Amino acid sequence: MSMAIDYKDYYKILGVPKTATDKDIKAAYRKLARQHHPDVNAGDKSAEDKFKDVGEAYDVLGDADKRAKYDQFGDQWKAYGSGGPTGGGGGAYQGDVNFGGFGAGGIDDFLSSLFGGAAGGGAAGGFGGFSQPSGRTRQTPRQVREDVEYPVEISLEEAFAGTTKSFTLSVPDTCGRCGGSGAVSSGKNKPCSMCAGTGKVKGNRGLFANNVCPQCGGTGQEVEVCPECHGDGTVIKKRRLTDIKIPAGVPDGQRIRLAGQGANGGDLYLKVIVRAHPQYERQGIDLYTDFVVPYTVAALGGEAPVETLSGRKVLNVPAGTQTGQTFRMGGLGMPDIKKKGTSGVLFARAKISVPKELSVRERDLLTELAKIRKDSVKA
Ligand SMILES: [Zn+2]
Ligand SMILES: [Zn+2]
Repeated sequence: MSMAIDYKDYYKILGVPKTATDKDIKAAYRKLARQHHPDVNAGDKSAEDKFKDVGEAYDVLGDADKRAKYDQFGDQWKAYGSGGPTGGGGGAYQGDVNFGGFGAGGIDDFLSSLFGGAAGGGAAGGFGGFSQPSGRTRQTPRQVREDVEYPVEISLEEAFAGTTKSFTLSVPDTCGRCGGSGAVSSGKNKPCSMCAGTGKVKGNRGLFANNVCPQCGGTGQEVEVCPECHGDGTVIKKRRLTDIKIPAGVPDGQRIRLAGQGANGGDLYLKVIVRAHPQYERQGIDLYTDFVVPYTVAALGGEAPVETLSGRKVLNVPAGTQTGQTFRMGGLGMPDIKKKGTSGVLFARAKISVPKELSVRERDLLTELAKIRKDSVKA
């Protein structure tokens, strides 16, 4: 018996070895999901496909139970998964495994091809995927709670002062059309090819609870791949989030958790990315910046303006200030998110400036100075 199964190597998709730890898998998933997220790759179909593959791979490898089954059944996982209680295959069998080709007795062949001789015994005991007595859905909806991470880019100024943001996110969610089963009634009033319209199957050896036909979910109607989700059971839904508070002093890479806003009730994590600033370097709660000191002020001492995130401040520099000399401006760094009311330090590095053009008088005076200092200047 041949089965057309679209085999995906989930380890390969996540780029991890078969020996990878749960932590490795999670890390690989987060990295790839972020990389291929539809919001970051708007309109890029290949990124969208990769995002889906990565989600599918994590769905399986991120779950110890499913992973064990995947490791055991390999390329037959999908068929197995769609029959299992978790529905991990996401309704794939409608498209990938030709159930329709089996006669009334064919289900046994199918099961033994999946589970070998063990189909009737203990192996079947663990399956109860089609337990809805009403038979309204043909399998357990996917309903995979998934935490979703979403990057939010803000400026350093916004990180300094704190900000509120509103977003429209694309989050995977259970398909409303098929309830996550991936299949809908064809509406053609044709009897289901598996149960010949009876809604029941025989000889299932306990695999399908109450003998409910797994293909039509007991409706007896021919089903087809859900046109909304194309059999995935999951669709990308737009979600509008308004006035999300990003606190002052938020560090780059900080994750803000929005409970229940992820996929199918999972959590949404906003990952704050603070854009690099042309004028300030950030190190923890401290900031570094350059400021210009005219050569006269550097030599004689005096005042020089420093641009800070709290506005322009005037710094008193001593006589003999050198380029690169750093001045500590307490309380003008980033707010400390862990210790309210306190801020880091702004380190201001002096850059001595020399005039590009000189008046005649300036030239005369400087020449005089050079003579006193015995500096070798152009005559
Ligand atoms: Zn659907
Ligand atoms: Zn049926």
